[in-house]
Amino acid sequence: MAELTLDSVTKVFNEGGSDEVVAVDGVDIDIADSEFLVLVGPSGCGKSTTLRMIAGLETVSDGEIRLGGRYINDTPPAERDIAMVFQSYALYPHMTVRQNMSFGLEESTEMADEEIAATVEETATMMGIEDLLDRKPSELSGGQQQRVALGRAIVRDPDAFLMDEPLSNLDAKLRATMRTELQRIQEDLGVTTVYVTHDQTEAMTMGDRIAVLNDGVLQQVGTPLECYHTPNNRFVAGFIGDPSMNFFDVTLSGDTLTGESFTYPLPDDVRSSLDDATEVTLGVRPEDIEFHRKESAVGDHNFECVVDVVEPVGESNNVYLRFADDDRPDPEMFIVTISGMRNVSSGDRVVAAIPPEAIHLFDDRDGRALKNRSLADVDGVAPT
Ligand code: ADP
Ligand code: MG
Repeated sequence: MAELTLDSVTKVFNEGGSDEVVAVDGVDIDIADSEFLVLVGPSGCGKSTTLRMIAGLETVSDGEIRLGGRYINDTPPAERDIAMVFQSYALYPHMTVRQNMSFGLEESTEMADEEIAATVEETATMMGIEDLLDRKPSELSGGQQQRVALGRAIVRDPDAFLMDEPLSNLDAKLRATMRTELQRIQEDLGVTTVYVTHDQTEAMTMGDRIAVLNDGVLQQVGTPLECYHTPNNRFVAGFIGDPSMNFFDVTLSGDTLTGESFTYPLPDDVRSSLDDATEVTLGVRPEDIEFHRKESAVGDHNFECVVDVVEPVGESNNVYLRFADDDRPDPEMFIVTISGMRNVSSGDRVVAAIPPEAIHLFDDRDGRALKNRSLADVDGVAPT
């Protein structure tokens, strides 16, 4: 067990060539001992490259990686005491489950054969694969193979686990089960873990903290709720959350935001947080928009709207709205989530209220959050 530190870690492929790629750009993350950190971001943002540098499968172009305080940039992978689990499982096809799980211990430790056998049995029981020990990988389902791959990592009792999208080949139901199980196992073992995924739901539900990466650049490190409610920038705001935050392009003049199809006066305290920004993006989460019947008053922050599409999810409905006086052929749309028990149909006229305390504002020059949602009414997140 150990803490893991990434200090300005950079990876440049084909450095100096015409096909140079800066895959990871000055990433700083301190991962505490026993922490479960999820590294999340879109495809191609540098997640696997980061993990491979930590594992020693890729050289580091610049910066330092430390495990338990020890500089490991030049340490060969086999000497790092790190276990990695891949999406592809990477089991040895000609070996049984027992042999797959024993192999690493035989290679890298001085453990006696009986001790190895006992450790493998114990881990297999913990993973619920004790009945499969004498089968070959081809005789296992995808879920069972993934359990074996995890068991093979766990049995080594490493200082850190690295997992690269380990659940993405499983069907949705099994993925949900394995998520919970992995979290429980990680908590029981207390092994520092970096878990890579492109799936923001996985990041939100599994991480002690999440690190959001885009284009090789770290955007934010924080608890899932910090990233959700107080995003550093527009990228994080849009990436975390499903359905995504609604964004409106607006211009600030005086103390009013003017969009393509609406105006939105700002309260004084919000206005004063905007410095000299004039081109900004207004953001509001779908669940923060209040949805009223059309008899409700229309006002500064209450807009008459028309329901375009209703997507029932069961517990909730995702309702796509447009502003009633936006009669352009391609009107601006936004999403409101409401209770699944509420009856609403395409074509309904309604009133959508965007409460000033729920809005986010981002500077279009750099995407930086100028104002985030007020957290006075949200439990469990420190107001910032
Ligand atoms: P992710 O895992 O987030 O999808 P990767 O870390 O695999 O992203 O890739 C990050 C970037 O680095 C991508 O632009 C990818 O094309 C590039 N890349 C990855 N590996 C190599 C390589 N061996 N040579 C050149 N470019 C690479
Ligand atoms: Mg990857």
